[in-house]
Amino acid sequence: MNATLTQDILEHHLERAQREIAFCQNCQPTENGKRVWRLGIPVKMSELLAKLKIPPADLEYVAESLECNNCSAMLDLTATVGLRSRSERELEQYWRKWETQYANRFRDFDDFLVEYPALGIQHRLGQQLFKALGELPRREIGATFYYSARKMASSLAPTAEDFNPPPCPPAGGQHHSAGQQAYVLMESDAGGAREVLTGEEKVVWVQKFQCTRCKGILDLSRQLAESPSPLIEHFIYGLCYRGALRAGESFNSDASAYRVARFLTDCARLHGFTGIRTKSAKHHANKLVLFTWPTDAFEPEGEPYWFDLRTAAAANP
Ligand SMILES: [Zn+2]
Repeated sequence: MNATLTQDILEHHLERAQREIAFCQNCQPTENGKRVWRLGIPVKMSELLAKLKIPPADLEYVAESLECNNCSAMLDLTATVGLRSRSERELEQYWRKWETQYANRFRDFDDFLVEYPALGIQHRLGQQLFKALGELPRREIGATFYYSARKMASSLAPTAEDFNPPPCPPAGGQHHSAGQQAYVLMESDAGGAREVLTGEEKVVWVQKFQCTRCKGILDLSRQLAESPSPLIEHFIYGLCYRGALRAGESFNSDASAYRVARFLTDCARLHGFTGIRTKSAKHHANKLVLFTWPTDAFEPEGEPYWFDLRTAAAANP
């Protein structure tokens, strides 16, 4: 083997190993004066390099040529490094694909909706999304608990009735335009609080509900890879991750609008879905947005309670 070829192979080993190292010991936080491993799956450098089939003769050279991708600390064969989890790797793949294949198409669609908010169906991507959404199954949400959070104008404690769906939403939201019926519920009280609190606000009233059964739901909360259409997978990704299609961080400067999310909702309504279950872009809890609901679908479970995000955050992320 000549010297150039050997160097090429070494560079190749280095590149493969470098991609794996998301975090190192240096990146880990300290709690009560002790360093605790929180970021990445910890693996000894020697084990990682053996798994990548780096020849024993090159181990030391490769290890000492690597650095942490997060903090740039230099590493060696005795280091412990943090690897990304499988779901983090998958999300990274989605991000790369989003950037190369989807970002421009959605940007163009979003630009179109700025000009013609009610005519998304006239755009080519709008037509494709409408068709793909119509082919998704109608799912049933089984009996479970949901939470509604409200900021109250009055200083008096609210009653469960105060959390009933509003007869007609006065203004548009992420999943409805002004005048459309929508009842937004979350799958955790912390999620409900995060959904409505803004800025430095930390406390809010929450009501727990026992949900009986909801049929005909467009369920976009499932794992991305479970979606039958790559377009829908990336649509969900754009809506829920990295803020790519989220108001406030959207492609255009109009932070007040939820153009693409509202287009999604209108498609779902027209296809006859009764609601959407989706990941929130603000937190980890799922969100249920109902367009229509039987009067007995939700039974209040106890009284409304005062929920403090600061004390509940650790136990209920
Ligand atoms: Zn590091």
